Amino acid sequence: MTKRMFNGENMNDSQCIFCRIVRKQAHASIVYEDETVLAFIDIRPLSEGHTLVIPKEHYETIFEIPEELLAQLHRIVKRVALAAKKATEADGISIFQQNGAAAGQEVFHFHVHVVPRHEGQKLARFGEISEADRGKMDQLAANIRRSM
Ligand code: AMP
Ligand code: ZN
Repeated sequence: MTKRMFNGENMNDSQCIFCRIVRKQAHASIVYEDETVLAFIDIRPLSEGHTLVIPKEHYETIFEIPEELLAQLHRIVKRVALAAKKATEADGISIFQQNGAAAGQEVFHFHVHVVPRHEGQKLARFGEISEADRGKMDQLAANIRRSM
């Protein structure tokens, strides 16, 4: 895979946690997988069922990812959103995506956040959330997968 530059830093695939997840070198609770797209539970969930959808290939932000791949990925985002809504009995789903440190991006491998929302429930804040229990994440992933 190609190396891409961001903010002058050369983020190489072997250092990228999401590339490691794609290669199954790091564990993730997988919700969906095909040849080009992977979805897995966020390790510090803003809400129960918070899922990340990523391209398998390493692109740092929306500025680098090819449009066709972006379109393909968003078809999966919609399916994941529907499944997460069903599996968590959510009232709504927030979908967002951050590009660049100034926008709050922390992992420089393009990803879309799919966050189940319940009426009256405030979201946790980034940076204030501890890592979820792996067993719980696996369970949630299985529930969402079944709803797809
Ligand atoms: P962002 O701030 O948009 O770059 O979001 C990065 C997200 O990746 C955060 O919500 C993190 O909790 C999540 N994250 C970081 N490392 C992992 C990991 N190993 N497995 C799952 N999610 C992760
Ligand atoms: Zn990567």
